[in-house]
Amino acid sequence: MAYDGLDLNGKAVLVTGGNSGIGLGMADAMAAAGADVAIWGMKPERNAEAAARLQRRGRKVHAAICDVSDEAAVEREMAATLKALGRLDACFANAGVSGRGGAHKIFSEMTTAEWHRVTRVHIDGTFFTFRAATRIMLEQGCGSLVATGSAFAIFGHPWVEHYAASKAAVASLARCLAVELGPHGIRANTIVPGYVDTQMTNARIHSAEFTADMMPRQAVPRWGVPEDFGGIAVYLASDASRWTTGATFVIDGGFTVAAKVAPREG
Ligand code: NDP
Repeated sequence: MAYDGLDLNGKAVLVTGGNSGIGLGMADAMAAAGADVAIWGMKPERNAEAAARLQRRGRKVHAAICDVSDEAAVEREMAATLKALGRLDACFANAGVSGRGGAHKIFSEMTTAEWHRVTRVHIDGTFFTFRAATRIMLEQGCGSLVATGSAFAIFGHPWVEHYAASKAAVASLARCLAVELGPHGIRANTIVPGYVDTQMTNARIHSAEFTADMMPRQAVPRWGVPEDFGGIAVYLASDASRWTTGATFVIDGGFTVAAKVAPREG
């Protein structure tokens, strides 16, 4: 028999960036645990494919095109999501873009457009999404907000200052929301993935050079896969996590705790 605390029957969840990668891994697990699921993305064909996969779980599925960096679109689609699912128990602000899109070779050459390409989706997008979700959750008197951060918010890494700073920002945002909204029954937490094999990363992480350099730090010696984020998503959407707030969950196969392992002497 399953543990009731993790049962998501009767709950409704939203995952931005839920049509692919980590977001789809989370959405699929929550649907399997009984939740009705909404996903937001930008590409219609990816939304359709993901919705078809989620529907196989037998729950209500709502897929919408929504650019999270567009304030009006977020307001409109949050209202449509509420109408489709009837309530909102958990909101995962997971939509994100790579920090590798710029042509700059050094920070002094990073364009303002490149800075905003990333910060608009991560910072503005998470703000717009959480603000709209919070209005619904305040009326309900309960809810769970979850941000997707990044290990780059912990490490210093060259060329991705906008990506790292914006992921640190969403973790800070979640901690503040945990404190402000806890008395209203709303929790806020951050998931920090390590290197996960998704559309965002697969071209890079499968190169021989990258693997040789980085894999020695993986305590669990493989890259993450979207399914590795199902358990934490179910937990954070469920009643089992009702006393969990302001927390940061690093899920990275041990990458951030490991020093680069030097060969053993002798
Ligand atoms: P994917 O590229 O597979 O997924 C990104 C998702 O975000 C897609 O669903 C995409 O939708 C959506 N998205 C992008 N921009 C927008 C936007 N403006 N509005 C709405 N949706 C948008 O990558 P991942 O699964 O890897 O990324 C998910 C999250 O995890 C991101 O926040 C990323 O920064 C973070 N992360 C990823 C790591 C990794 O190693 N993969 C490591 C650490 C953090 P569409 O394709 O339709 O545009």
